[in-house]
Amino acid sequence: MNSYDLIIVGAGITGKATALRLAQLGLKILHIAPNFDPGSHCNDDLAWDSRIYALSSSSQQLLSNMKVWEAMDHSRIQVVSDMRIFGDSGQAKDELHFSAYSATVPQLAWIVEASHIEKTLDTASQFQGNIQRVTDTVTDFFSTKDAVTVQTQTGQSFSAKLLLAADGAQSPIREKLQIQTLINDYGQTAIVANFKCELDHKDTAYQWFLDNGEILALLPLPNKKLSMVWSAGTTHAEQLLKLDPDALCSTVMKAALGSISQRTGSLKMMTQAKSYPLRKMKAERIIAPDHQPRIVLIGDAAHVMHPLAGQGLNLGLRDVATLGQLFENKESFRNIDDPVVLRRYERSRHGDTDALLFTTDQLQKLFANQSDFIKTARNLGMSLVNRSQFLKRQLIQRALA
Ligand SMILES: Cc1cc2nc3c(=O)[nH]c(=O)nc-3n(C[C@H](O)[C@H](O)[C@H](O)COP(=O)(O)OP(=O)(O)OC[C@H]3O[C@@H](n4cnc5c(N)ncnc54)[C@H](O)[C@@H]3O)c2cc1C
Repeated sequence: MNSYDLIIVGAGITGKATALRLAQLGLKILHIAPNFDPGSHCNDDLAWDSRIYALSSSSQQLLSNMKVWEAMDHSRIQVVSDMRIFGDSGQAKDELHFSAYSATVPQLAWIVEASHIEKTLDTASQFQGNIQRVTDTVTDFFSTKDAVTVQTQTGQSFSAKLLLAADGAQSPIREKLQIQTLINDYGQTAIVANFKCELDHKDTAYQWFLDNGEILALLPLPNKKLSMVWSAGTTHAEQLLKLDPDALCSTVMKAALGSISQRTGSLKMMTQAKSYPLRKMKAERIIAPDHQPRIVLIGDAAHVMHPLAGQGLNLGLRDVATLGQLFENKESFRNIDDPVVLRRYERSRHGDTDALLFTTDQLQKLFANQSDFIKTARNLGMSLVNRSQFLKRQLIQRALA
């Protein structure tokens, strides 16, 4: 196979899902990334991946349509039935409780390890004759009226009709295209780690908006395990990372005025803590300008958001689903590189991306605000929303998209 419809750059979940979805349409794909290995956590029950994702219905639907969801090991997937969100005090009076049962939906989300999703995508891709993988780094590219060509670190050169950049938040392709970005650095770093917990989590995801503007989430994993995402101020995050496992456990248990240990009981660390700097980023364009046609941004290359709502990957997978649908349903006289088709992709992703970036950004700012008035108002707001089943159902319907 040496004539390609598409070159996909980047082997995160977005890149792998894009390759599989588009190969299933019969398109010939060349997939380039420096590393395709998702890590070896998946087969070892003791080593659960601390990079976990809350997946929404749209992501589950895409994986299911690609026959990936059914192939996953469901003993490693945790359903979220309840979500409990606490204001500054960490106390029940400031609580916002979402329940799948009250909203009459089967679940609010699923929690899945990153490596588990990637490994299943890898297995499915092996059965796809239309995908050729090349382990290499793209160093340069140029496009003409007829094709786009990429060059790699090892001196290889490949051409196709279209180049899809799924090369992550720092996207070298986006940078080289000089596409402008709107960036907001949150001055926070996410610390992630997995814990064994003493008390049953009852399929509940917890999130505490702490007094100092930090956000601590504990997401359920099967068999009394929890995965933490602590969005901490940069200096505090450095201190947390230096703690030994026992000290980190007791710091987590004591956070939110001790209300965490009331929910989880004692914690025992299962994985070493890792860190990820947090920022918001939106590319002003997700298709390349006219003088550099045939290039499309997808996933974190196009948008990055705060993890407080657990939506970044879900948004990227909706990019994949939209592109797949547009290619599948385009008029027969148009090719996949038709500028009309590419503009449809750009237009159809605009609203979803802007709405999510705006909402997560505003929530982050609201809870980072240290004014006593705002603190009182937001806690009051949470308890008022909590009393309205109607509002909560609306919020759940929106979040389940
Ligand atoms: C702490 C934290 C928690 C999160 N939790 C959630 C959650 O619960 N739910 C959710 O939906 N989202 C969540 N997210 C967001 C999610 O992590 C990202 O949106 C997602 O990982 C983006 O995937 P991607 O494939 O687009 O990019 P990446 O995973 O960054 O992949 C980019 C790929 O491009 C490759 N690459 C880079 N440069 C080149 C090059 N020159 N040539 C070839 N390849 C290249 C890289 O090697 C890599 O394989 C969270 C994020 C953080 C930080």
